[in-house]
Amino acid sequence: MISNLTSQEFVCSHCGKKVTYQRAIGTHYRNHCPDCLWSQHEDLAVSGDRKSTCHGQMEPIGLTFKKEGKDRYGRERQGELMIIHQCLKCGKISINRLAGDDNEEAILQVLENSKNLTSEQKHLLETQNIKILQEQDKEEILVQLYGK
Ligand SMILES: [Zn+2]
Ligand SMILES: [Zn+2]
Repeated sequence: MISNLTSQEFVCSHCGKKVTYQRAIGTHYRNHCPDCLWSQHEDLAVSGDRKSTCHGQMEPIGLTFKKEGKDRYGRERQGELMIIHQCLKCGKISINRLAGDDNEEAILQVLENSKNLTSEQKHLLETQNIKILQEQDKEEILVQLYGK
């Protein structure tokens, strides 16, 4: 019998924390550090394919909501809170789900830091149709993080 649960470990290349995680095959990888939220560029086409040869450090540069489309009144549906990473080496942008044990304060710090994005980064996000969250979205962010 093949177990579909494997325990994996990686050392965060940004803060040095040793991260242990379990994953079920076919579901999401834990691809970022729960403490500093930095990630590493391992995926080429889809999340978890591990085919990239870049291996650059990926900085958490902002937050966004997952696009859920419009409801029947034509309003945008409120999607899940996601984190935007950018590779320091090649500049690739990727959007990732948060995990339950991610540090909430670090997530809010990402929101703070995203105010200082360069116009180049903002342009890159725009061309990929990624809407970066701002101060006015903070209430919804807190609801998603703390459930209040
Ligand atoms: Zn880390
Ligand atoms: Zn890269």
